[in-house]
Amino acid sequence: GCTANGVAAALRAAAEVVAEHRVELIELDRAIGDADHGENMNRGFVAIVSSLDQSVPGTPGAVLKLAATTLISKVGGAAGPLYGTGFLRAATSVGTESEVDVKTVAAALRAALEGVQARGKAVEGDKTMVDALLPAVAAAEQAAATEGADVAAVLTAAADAAAKGAESTVPLVARKGRASYLGERSAGHLDPGARSTALILGALARAAR
Ligand code: ADP
Ligand code: MG
Ligand code: MG
Repeated sequence: GCTANGVAAALRAAAEVVAEHRVELIELDRAIGDADHGENMNRGFVAIVSSLDQSVPGTPGAVLKLAATTLISKVGGAAGPLYGTGFLRAATSVGTESEVDVKTVAAALRAALEGVQARGKAVEGDKTMVDALLPAVAAAEQAAATEGADVAAVLTAAADAAAKGAESTVPLVARKGRASYLGERSAGHLDPGARSTALILGALARAAR
């Protein structure tokens, strides 16, 4: 199982990866958006880390809720409310348990996806973060149903599927968000939000190992 401190460490790992890929995310968003996704996400995760430096909430759910409220208040744009809602739904799904296990993690990812879709109305193939998160949830649920799987295995399956899902956005024409203003010209580019979702899940998975 994963404790509040484990979730906090995983968020710190995600913050590191977002910082390392800040420029890459900016450049992806420059191609089909307004070149701020890397800056937006980095601002949010820097703020999460500074909150965690002050104090780590007592339960995994409370840590996720802190991440959610921080992302909502600091990231802005389309991604802030979407990631914020995702983390908030994950937090609610985890509830007040003191440790998250395989089933809790898979359910939290499912809740996050439902939150992102409720908020942004994107479906698979719209060239958004949903194209990374949706296959990640399916892979996590499949892994969670496998005998002997641990949290790291579930998150690794999710991260691998998210990476593939993000790559699958390249040929797509965007139907949601700023990139949709480009119409056909959005094709041929990786969606920045799908890329950040894959990066964050990758960091969470490595932190769980
Ligand atoms: P903005 O477009 O407001 O500048 P960001 O650049 O931070 O915000 O985030 C852009 C990303 O948000 C896109 O790459 C896409 O993955 C995601 N996104 C935009 N609109 C939606 C939506 N309706 N549903 C899901 N994801 C979306
Ligand atoms: Mg942008
Ligand atoms: Mg913007």
